Amino acid sequence: MPLFDPSTKPRRRSGGSFSALVTPVFLLFVILFTALLLPSCDGKKSNPTSAWPYPPPEICPAEQWDEDTSGWYAYTHDCDPYQGEHFTVYSDGSSDQAMEQLAGLAEEKFDHLVPEFLVEDIAGELEFTEGYTYYIYADQNHDPIQGMAYRNGFFIGAIDCATVPNYYTRDPWWYGCIIQHELTHVFQFTLTGCPSNAACPEWLGVWFREGQAVYMSGGGPGIRVTSLDEFHQWWEDENHVNPIAIHRWTDFPDPDRGGEYYPMFGLAYAYLIDRAQGHGAGMADMRNLFQLMKEGQGFFEAFEQALGMSVAEYQENFYTMMETYLSQAGQPSSRSLEEKMAFWGTNDDYRTGGEG
Ligand SMILES: [Zn+2]
Repeated sequence: MPLFDPSTKPRRRSGGSFSALVTPVFLLFVILFTALLLPSCDGKKSNPTSAWPYPPPEICPAEQWDEDTSGWYAYTHDCDPYQGEHFTVYSDGSSDQAMEQLAGLAEEKFDHLVPEFLVEDIAGELEFTEGYTYYIYADQNHDPIQGMAYRNGFFIGAIDCATVPNYYTRDPWWYGCIIQHELTHVFQFTLTGCPSNAACPEWLGVWFREGQAVYMSGGGPGIRVTSLDEFHQWWEDENHVNPIAIHRWTDFPDPDRGGEYYPMFGLAYAYLIDRAQGHGAGMADMRNLFQLMKEGQGFFEAFEQALGMSVAEYQENFYTMMETYLSQAGQPSSRSLEEKMAFWGTNDDYRTGGEG
């Protein structure tokens, strides 16, 4: 029996170069968990009920995320959410302490992104009405989603994730980057006025929205292409196509290797907002792009109007522009291109209308 019924909606599994780099222990957990999950899946994700110390004493129905994900992540929770200022953390069993820690990290990232996105009025621009918060679903017993964002929040492996016990502790820096990345997507949804990815088929191009999220993740040069050598190395892989040609998830030549594009998407965005040696746009221009979309324009039209260059032009000249740019502005990084690609290689499901 396939993991997910292909007649309904096949689900991408991570693989490719990631599996070569992942630690054997982590891989063992993934394999073990996947094997245990096999008998219970019929195309729609559901909570595992027998393989792990589960279910919790009480089970509460899925909340907003059920609607946000069109039922694809209709996870129930343990009825004991942690309520913070801008986030409510739900889980299938994460401890109060771990949820509080996660909410605290998310608040930190939120406080960082608000001025980065030039948000002056949180209630008005981010639409925080009375009683509303973003949600975080902290996966404790599901297969660990590295991160998946929707209009109202995101999914992430719990700090005390049971299926990968060292999920957070193996690299807290990485974990923080993922939170900041997913939160960037939530801001994108809000500021462009898009209720969900599925509701906005002509939404921000994948290369742009992921590029911005990579750039805003807080990982600096360690998670995006930053040197001419890396650029050439990436481009010479015959499986890679022009990153600016990736407008939708279905544009990846090999969806299993979509994560390899993220460091290049990060470069594409970094160039746009480099005022010294790049295209020279600022966040005000990006917010203008978002605003135009909120008012009804499509991405291509809004991009050209806000940034003074068409997406087609950028795509056509991307190679030459990046060669020139990196010859001047390139910088070495302590991480290899393989490490950077592997960092993003575990991003999960690209097909449920969420943002990996
Ligand atoms: Zn993303």
